[in-house]
Amino acid sequence: MTEVEMPAAYDDTNIFAKILRGELPAHKVYEDDATFAFMDIMPRGKGHCLVIPKKPARNILDVDTTSLSAVVATVQKLAHAVVEAFDADGASIAQFNESAGGQVVFHLHFHVIPRFEGVDLKPHSGDMEKPEILAANAEKIRAALDQL
Ligand code: 5GP
Repeated sequence: MTEVEMPAAYDDTNIFAKILRGELPAHKVYEDDATFAFMDIMPRGKGHCLVIPKKPARNILDVDTTSLSAVVATVQKLAHAVVEAFDADGASIAQFNESAGGQVVFHLHFHVIPRFEGVDLKPHSGDMEKPEILAANAEKIRAALDQL
C-alpha cells in the first residue's frame, strides 16, 4: 500500500490560486499584502465570504505561522464587518483540511459566515448565488470595512 504523504503538496491549478492570479473572477471584499477575501460563490448564508493567504498553502497542515497569523487577523476584520453589514446576531468561522476533513478547494481558506438567530446554514457547496446578489453583498461588506 502506498502511504499518503502529509501534508500533501500544494497544486497551483486550484480555483483560489486562479482567482489570486486574476485568471478567474471573484467578488473581492478585502485585500492586503498577505491576504485576500472574496464572496463564496455557493454561500451557506447571506454574506458568506472566504479569506485566503496570498502565499501558497494547501491548508492548515502546511501553512507557515506568519501567513496563518495574517489570515486570522483578516478573518477577525471580516467577522466584524459581516456582523455590521448584515446586522447579524453572530458569525461562524469554519476551516477544513484535506478531503477527510471536508476540504474541497486545496488553497487554505477560512469561511466567515454571518449568523442570525433561528436561521440554519444551507448545505455546503449547494446552490450558486446570483452574481448581482454577490456583488451587492460584497459592496455592503466593503462599506462596513471602511467604517471599522
Ligand atoms: P471547502 O474547501 O472549505 O470545503 O469549501 C470550498 C468553498 O469554496 C465552498 O464553500 C464553495 O462554495 C467555494 N467555492 C468553490 N468554487 C468557488 C469559486 O469558483 N469561486 C468562489 N468564490 N467560491 C468557490
